Amino acid sequence: MHPFAYVAPKTVDEAVAVLEKHGERARPIAGGTDLLVQARGGRFDLDAVVDIKKIPELVSIKNDDSGLEFGAAVPCYQLYENPELSAEYPGLMDAASLIGGIQIQSRAGLGGNLCNSTPSGDGICPLIVHYGTAVIAGPSGRRELPVEDFCTGPGRNDLKQGEMLVSLKFPKPSSTFGAAYERFIPRNEMDIAVAGVAASVELDSGGNIAKARVALCAVGPTPILAEAAGAALVGKSADDEAAIEAAGAAAAEAASPISDMRGTVEQRKHLVDVLTKRMVKKAVERARS
Ligand SMILES: Cc1cc2nc3c(=O)[nH]c(=O)nc-3n(C[C@H](O)[C@H](O)[C@H](O)COP(=O)(O)OP(=O)(O)OC[C@H]3O[C@@H](n4cnc5c(N)ncnc54)[C@H](O)[C@@H]3O)c2cc1C
Repeated sequence: MHPFAYVAPKTVDEAVAVLEKHGERARPIAGGTDLLVQARGGRFDLDAVVDIKKIPELVSIKNDDSGLEFGAAVPCYQLYENPELSAEYPGLMDAASLIGGIQIQSRAGLGGNLCNSTPSGDGICPLIVHYGTAVIAGPSGRRELPVEDFCTGPGRNDLKQGEMLVSLKFPKPSSTFGAAYERFIPRNEMDIAVAGVAASVELDSGGNIAKARVALCAVGPTPILAEAAGAALVGKSADDEAAIEAAGAAAAEAASPISDMRGTVEQRKHLVDVLTKRMVKKAVERARS
């Protein structure tokens, strides 16, 4: 492995300055559970890794009436061990508690999962159905980007030279909001999703679906916000089986998987259909409870 400098800035501005100076040859390290594996595998030659866990803003969690914002280096366990967050942001908790095992969850976070930008990243679709926004800092200041626009291809994203993810922000869910995420893997744990689906719903006072989102994992070059699947549910009763069937079909239609050693196109589309219906029902159940 190419020798690299370890830099531990205390502020976002310092981190951005190092990233800008080294360009492609420097990368932030959050948990390092992707970065170190990839660096050892020779995917990139790094002159510097920038440890972002020493920056207070990157490891803080703020949850109040306006919503949730957590730093890009907050590890998974700090999310799911917080009872308040677990109740309000169930889709995020589904992801945080299934990425790797306890050792991985103690280091790795949803920020690193998003920045790694693999189509099979389990954390990304739950961020999308919770209406997440990425807060990005770079040489020309800060900007915000909806999470569904963050990934641009396998392992690629919208971050420009010198930019880094600072935090992830979410609006406060209403008391009738529910969300869920599940993936299909051949083994019980520690595997890469063959397909995964996250869904969220918000119910109105009459029990109908006022808002809905469905996002698809591992069935395209990026995670996919399946807008037609969400639209098939809006205005319908939360128990409307025909609407849920239509959402499953629309999600399968939106998927553009490939056949590889883990699954075929047909199997993945079928999985998306099944998982969408299952996740919508689970989101409704959570919205009601
Ligand atoms: C044993 C094992 C099991 C795993 N299981 C799963 C699983 O079930 N599901 C799953 O989705 N993944 C899994 N992974 C992959 C990995 O753990 C996750 O993707 C994890 O969420 C990455 O987070 P991290 O904090 O470790 O990221 P890091 O490795 O620190 O970073 C990942 C990438 O993002 C970049 N980056 C990190 N933070 C920032 C930032 N703030 N701004 C800009 N770029 C940044 C890094 O430079 C790097 O390129 C597993 C990995 C291992 C080793």
